[in-house]
Amino acid sequence: MHTKKNILGYSLESLELFFSEINESKFRAKQLLKWVHQKGVLDFGLMTDFNKDLRKKLSSIVCLKPPLIHKKYQSNEGTVKYLIELESGSMIEMVEIPEKNRRTLCVSSQAGCALQCTFCATGAQGFEKDLTSDEIIGQLWLANFHKKNKDLITNVVFMGMGEPLLNFDAVVESAKIMKHQLAYGLSRKRVTISTSGIVPQIDKLADSVDVSLAISLHSADNGLRDEIVPINKKYPINSLINSCKNYLLNYDNKRNITIEYILIEGVNDSIEHAKQLSKLLTNISCKINLIPFNKFDGCEYKRPSNDKIGDFKDFLMKKGYIATLRMTRGDDVDGACGQLVGNLRKSIKGKKLISHETII
Ligand code: SAH
Ligand code: SF4
Repeated sequence: MHTKKNILGYSLESLELFFSEINESKFRAKQLLKWVHQKGVLDFGLMTDFNKDLRKKLSSIVCLKPPLIHKKYQSNEGTVKYLIELESGSMIEMVEIPEKNRRTLCVSSQAGCALQCTFCATGAQGFEKDLTSDEIIGQLWLANFHKKNKDLITNVVFMGMGEPLLNFDAVVESAKIMKHQLAYGLSRKRVTISTSGIVPQIDKLADSVDVSLAISLHSADNGLRDEIVPINKKYPINSLINSCKNYLLNYDNKRNITIEYILIEGVNDSIEHAKQLSKLLTNISCKINLIPFNKFDGCEYKRPSNDKIGDFKDFLMKKGYIATLRMTRGDDVDGACGQLVGNLRKSIKGKKLISHETII
């Protein structure tokens, strides 16, 4: 059977190319972007500023299709976690985090991840596939439009499953749609790509799309980072720091890189570690986001005590850094990404099921 091409994940430029290839005016691309990503309309038949022939033509050659919501879990403090099923059958997760004046969506860029960081539930599952741009933007589309009368997403972070910079083209294409004024219109401050440090792709990013960058550093010591973030063996800390510096040179306005640092008891949480970190980041314009380790089955690590976390943070603040603590929210629905899919797999094997969540 011939499957129609899905154009949900086309940026403005790709849509313009598409319309010119089918001998239609380029202007249609702008109209389509608005229908799909501002009004949430997927049915070409409802696109009233397209003439009947064009509506028919589009329906016969292409489609607009987000992935499926398999299940939705609501935590006590408002975090909503979605288990999403891709056409291939792979499962991914996305998390919606409502805060005072914003609503952040954490999206996945791959099903699974090949990089096997030792503290990460996604890494423990291995790699399944790269998401296509329609599967990435489809997550934002679903969060905004699968239910009527909902608050729209104000911020997107690529901190779900997968390493976004190893799926570069699809991630860039979807980030362009997130940012475009005729689509979601999110400013660069409101779209954040988080990476474990794929150096050549960090170097390419500034030329491709202007978003905010977060680096999952987790250790300032090369030997320790080799262990907990194995991609460090390929792109060691000094090359990563250099590429962060070069990245910042692309922009003349004042901007920061976010440095993410998971705190794991007895592994990277001592004052000595904080000292190393503070020294390493001396010449980098950044803010540091400390994330207490979130436990999951099959991983021995523990989160440090609140005192220990406080000491680590205070040390960095005294050194003049902006350091914030990201308290993992949605713990009762297995807050950190990768954990739901991990649990689902276990349940398929007939073991313990996802616990203590409310399915809505
Ligand atoms: N692959 C990318 C983006 C996805 S991971 C990256 O590594 O940056 C996004 C964030 O979730 C990273 O900072 C990662 O370190 C964090 N994370 C992964 N597992 C976690 C856990 N068990 N507890 C707390 N944070 C975790
Ligand atoms: Fe992959 Fe990021 Fe998890 Fe590391 S932390 S295994 S790079 S998803």
